[in-house]
Formats: sequence, structure tokens, C-alpha cells
Amino acid sequence: MEDQLISLKTAKLAKEVKFKLATSYGYIGKELHPAKETLSLETDELIEAGEVIQDFNKEKWVYDREGGECFGCKADNIRYFIAHSAPNQSLLQRWLRELHNVQISLYKVSNNYYYVIGYDKGFIKTSSKSYGTYESALEDALQEGLKFIKKLKPELLCGNCNKYTTYNKLLKGTIKLTETYTKDIDFCPNCKQYGCLQDIT
Ligand SMILES: [Zn+2]
Repeated sequence: MEDQLISLKTAKLAKEVKFKLATSYGYIGKELHPAKETLSLETDELIEAGEVIQDFNKEKWVYDREGGECFGCKADNIRYFIAHSAPNQSLLQRWLRELHNVQISLYKVSNNYYYVIGYDKGFIKTSSKSYGTYESALEDALQEGLKFIKKLKPELLCGNCNKYTTYNKLLKGTIKLTETYTKDIDFCPNCKQYGCLQDIT
């Protein structure tokens, strides 16, 4: 039983919010392509060892129809195309949960599926309609979760635990983390380390 790959629309949203895990498939233009390389697995804890994977979301890289890469070439949609990583639904669901604290749950009533999305203690959203399949409900939930992340605009990436966080500049020189911590911009709320946050804006 194989997990369904995310749609191109979902893949575009995932790239916008910096989904960076290497995946087994990617969209080159509108077409799905299998990965060609086996990358270092050091930073890809969500991927099983030995899989052929690559990062289709690399910045400034474009791809031809055979999967050939070019750095800095122009995407003309004739020879070179923009690519998007296409993880399966459950990997993206897990990425949202483990890196962004966005929890997606699905439930079934009679023959219909519904979703609930939660974020930390604050509740986000339930599905406004019912779905005929688990996968279609999950796909919409993933898109909603990604849109939520996009709205949060993560501005800091922790070099220690590799998780994102955000801050709001309330006054010039005063920085409030959206998490519990308000004093130190350089304090990661996830791994509780100092000096590991990098501004990625
Ligand atoms: Zn950290």
C-alpha cells in the first residue's frame, strides 16, 4: 500500500514555506519525475535510509524533461522547468507536525471524512465540507496547514534543532517571540539553546 503523493498545487505551497526534505519524486514543470540521486541522509531524519531521493526545491536550480539540472539557467518552460518536491502526504503531514507544530487529524463519520487542524494550544480549523476519501480530505488539510504556516512567516531557523520559529517586531529594538519567550531573540524555544537562531528573511 503506497502513500499518495501530494498534488502540484500542494507542492507549490510547500516550496513557498521552505519544505526542504529530499523526496523520492518531484514535479518538473507539471510532470512527476522519480529522484535520481541518493543524498546524504544526515539532515533528513524523516526519510528512511537507502531511499533514492533528491531535493527538487533547491533555490535557483531548474530541470529539463530528463531530470537534468542546471544552476541559474532560465526557466523557459521549453527546455528548463521549475521543479517542486513531491513528498507523499504522510511525510508532509509529519513535517508540518514535527517542524511547525501543525497537527492534522482526520476522522470518519458514516462514509464521509473530515479534518481538524490544530496549532499548539490555539485551535485553527475544521473542514467546512465532507470528503469522499481519506486522501482528498488530507490533501485539503495539508494545503490549509501550509497556508497557515505561510501566514506565520517564519523568520528564524534554528541551526541546532533545524526548526523554524517566528518573531514580531513590536517596537524598534524590542523583539517578542510568538512563543513563550520574549527577551532573547537568540534563544530557541524548541531546543532551549542560545545563539543558534539564524534570520532567514
Ligand atoms: Zn533549536
